[in-house]
Amino acid sequence: MDILWPYEQGEVPEFFYARYGHPVVAEAEAALGALDGGTAVLFPSGTGAATALALSLLHPGETIALAEGAYYGTGRLFETLAPWGLRHVEFDQTGLPPEGMQLLWLEAPANPMLTMPDFGAAAAYPAPVVVDSTVATPVALRPLEHGADYVLHSATKALGGHDDVLLGVVVCRDPDAADALRRFRGLTGISPAAEQSLLLLRSLRTLEVRVRKQSASAALVAERLAAHPAVSTVRYPGLGGLISFDVAGGDAARRVETGTRLILNATSLGSVRSLIEGRHRWEGDRVPPGLLRLSIGLEDPEEIWADLAKALGNP
Ligand code: PLP
Repeated sequence: MDILWPYEQGEVPEFFYARYGHPVVAEAEAALGALDGGTAVLFPSGTGAATALALSLLHPGETIALAEGAYYGTGRLFETLAPWGLRHVEFDQTGLPPEGMQLLWLEAPANPMLTMPDFGAAAAYPAPVVVDSTVATPVALRPLEHGADYVLHSATKALGGHDDVLLGVVVCRDPDAADALRRFRGLTGISPAAEQSLLLLRSLRTLEVRVRKQSASAALVAERLAAHPAVSTVRYPGLGGLISFDVAGGDAARRVETGTRLILNATSLGSVRSLIEGRHRWEGDRVPPGLLRLSIGLEDPEEIWADLAKALGNP
């Protein structure tokens, strides 16, 4: 796909150089904006989207209140940006945010702790609100309708859904805010590839049917997990296909994740394929040592359960 287009009688056309804009990217953004009810700006990964959003909204010395138990990489990203004067503190998003913050960064539901934010408290807060809604997808939740100013998705996950796309998106309530973010993207070069955007567009055609099936299967698997004697805690808020649950400890988690066959032992979520991994290897003491994150795919839920039950050890 071309990355440049000729001028028209010396005039610069709408699309002229892909870092500033590409018709396929624009088409994917229109589809994503419609799904969340705002104006979408696409980025080369979810983390790229978070970088662009944080750097374009904040000045050195300002602080982000980040949801505890949210995607581990987001906190790591903010730590990485600390030398540029960006600060962050973690807080329990089910309650009131700390005072004096310049940005709230929530996750609905949080990956992997699967808590939900207090949307009312966030909407009343005198600072912009970002909701990372990667896990829920716009099929299950539209955070702009709950007072968020920005919705962020790792489109690498359920929006792409087939483990062949690395993209991220920010959907803005205010079209002027989206224009500003798009300008920042072009000037900093955090611009998405058209080929990836085309794959995403194709995937979006099946998003709803995939997420509905994953959610129904996840509800069934979560219920069976809750009744299993080897499992202590099951977290499943019912939005999307992500479950987390605890087994006795790190060794037990390792036995389960290496004991499945149908369910892949890999990191990611929202895929057509079911995926499982112990999160302690990445997150350390932020999570219980026996915490397993399970992302339900499109396989027959009875087959998913049979695979998992075998790995857990049939009672
Ligand atoms: N937000 C959430 C909730 C995620 O789970 C992830 C990735 O795991 C990201 C953001 C980052 O997305 P990406 O891997 O596309 O950079």
